[in-house]
Amino acid sequence: MSTRDKLLELLISSCGEFVSGTEVAARLGVSGTAVWKAARKLQKEGYNIDAVTRKGYRLSADTDLLTRNGILQDLQSDIRLEVYDSVDSTNAICLTAGSQGEPEVFAAVAGRQTRGRGRRGRSFYSPADTGIYMSLLLRPPCKDPAQALRLTTIAAVAVCEAIEAVSGQIARIKWVNDVYISGRKVCGILTEASISLEGGTLDYAVVGIGINAYEPEGGFPADIADRAGAAFSHRVSNGRSRLTAKVLDRFMHYYGLFLKDLETESAGGHGENAYAEEYRKRCFVIGKNIDVITPASRREAVATGLTDDCRLIVKYEDGSVEELESGEISIRTRDQ
Ligand code: ATP
Repeated sequence: MSTRDKLLELLISSCGEFVSGTEVAARLGVSGTAVWKAARKLQKEGYNIDAVTRKGYRLSADTDLLTRNGILQDLQSDIRLEVYDSVDSTNAICLTAGSQGEPEVFAAVAGRQTRGRGRRGRSFYSPADTGIYMSLLLRPPCKDPAQALRLTTIAAVAVCEAIEAVSGQIARIKWVNDVYISGRKVCGILTEASISLEGGTLDYAVVGIGINAYEPEGGFPADIADRAGAAFSHRVSNGRSRLTAKVLDRFMHYYGLFLKDLETESAGGHGENAYAEEYRKRCFVIGKNIDVITPASRREAVATGLTDDCRLIVKYEDGSVEELESGEISIRTRDQ
């Protein structure tokens, strides 16, 4: 480990408190000059490090680094976790891990994605320092792969609960996979799956969650500026790590219930879908006039409700009723 890495680790573990130059040098086993050079290097990289005569060094309290240690400090769930500075896509990492036989539950978390993905080949803007990008590799025993669609809805509820707990903002769900705060999208969710060709059953699923923790400096890019928002309104010490841990914990809570539901359903019973009530409470499109958009058409409808497994019930102008499953369908509200 370089002096820079050791210094960073020490300052992170000191939680915003000053550590004297002498103590840093002793603990790192290097000279005071080497410590000073490492601190300058970190400052040039953008770390907000205070270096004060007779007090020493500290990471400023509003520093928000996304680190494995920071996440593990709050995480209660038993999952394997890898944290990366920058990746092409956390979903891609988990899909590869899945194809190589990695067991569940594995989570890949990154502070930046160079190729963040959305649905239907669209991209998810994933800049450094302001977002959280995480994916979970899961192997629920779904006989019918459609059961795995519930993972998207579980993730949406988990994100809302986590945001409310950590940032205090009220989060709402735009069916099926987006989380909004005050009319702005702060999170997108993309579930991808691998289906076994022999049995037609689910092999593994990857749930990707991208959250805008903060608005990037200079704002969001023009194409999303009018609809993107952020989970936090101001910098919060370790906000991204804490939010990540909470999302993972809430997700794992509902995932445990989902596994029980699958057992009940495979024995011929009805699962409780405990997350569905939370989803319904937060889904802001119910009762609204919407456009239902598929690759082939765009139709006006009213969203009248949600089924127990969170399919959207819509009534078209001609009076016909349909239950929508996510997949290829997007909706737009017309009267919000
Ligand atoms: P739709 O609203 O049509 O159903 P979606 O919201 O489900 O689409 P996703 O595939 O989840 O779409 O996300 C990709 C879309 O989200 C992009 O086309 C863009 O409009 C928007 N987007 C991309 N990056 C961000 C971001 N960081 N924050 C908010 N919105 C984003």
